[in-house]
Amino acid sequence: MKKTLMALGALLISASTLAATPWQSISQPINGKPQAIGAFANGCIIGAQPLPLDATDYQVMRQDQRRYFGHPDLIMFIQRLSTQVHNLQLGEVLIGDMGMAAGGRFSSGHASHQSGLDVDIWLQLPKTRWTSAMLLKPQPLDLVAADGKNVVARHWQPEIDSLIKLAAKDDDVTRIFVNPAIKKQLCADAGADRDWLRKVRPWFGHRAHMHVRLRCPAGSLECEDQPAPPPGDGCGAELQSWFAPPKPGTGAPVKRTPPPLPPACQALLDKHLL
Ligand SMILES: [Zn+2]
Repeated sequence: MKKTLMALGALLISASTLAATPWQSISQPINGKPQAIGAFANGCIIGAQPLPLDATDYQVMRQDQRRYFGHPDLIMFIQRLSTQVHNLQLGEVLIGDMGMAAGGRFSSGHASHQSGLDVDIWLQLPKTRWTSAMLLKPQPLDLVAADGKNVVARHWQPEIDSLIKLAAKDDDVTRIFVNPAIKKQLCADAGADRDWLRKVRPWFGHRAHMHVRLRCPAGSLECEDQPAPPPGDGCGAELQSWFAPPKPGTGAPVKRTPPPLPPACQALLDKHLL
């Protein structure tokens, strides 16, 4: 009896993780003046653009997933950053997930990336371009040691410092999420120029990529920005707290029932999923 219940439980769990969200059935951007709507983890986007897939300064991974849409500001940021990286000959920029054509919630993989303002960029800069087969099944490079406290020295390159610093110095960028061990390395490597470290925030996972988030675009009146990160470079007590043993009742965030959609996103769904 107990075994049957457990099997049933497993079935229910796998069904809920595989459940598609309505946003995945919208394959083309919603026409209109570009508008990022709602919060990064509960929103959508009108007038998203696809990141051009054919580019000399970056490569787009897992194109079959069609997660390469974003607000025009995000497209321009990726192009701006990649041009800088290319001109400095740091290596090839590998672009991971952005958002879906109308943004919205994914069935798996991301809580945010919903309003067209988030992009994952991998923390490896290959010296030669990847083949299309490699881009379809990219192999992440885990930069964090097994103890979770340091980066793997043989994988860490000064070019990675430069990539994150260039992104953090971009005026449109408000936050960059990386693993605490990676933030620790950035703190150690940075010299006197440290203001940009304020935007680099320690977070769970993010061992092989950085997650870059932009501010709400001008004219996106229903876009909800986050408060600015606390002052300072964030290299002191706050970072140390990530390496302390977890207090009871804390730890990785648990999955909660999604909050109600912003009305403009619900209206968009109602209109496009008839
Ligand atoms: Zn991300």
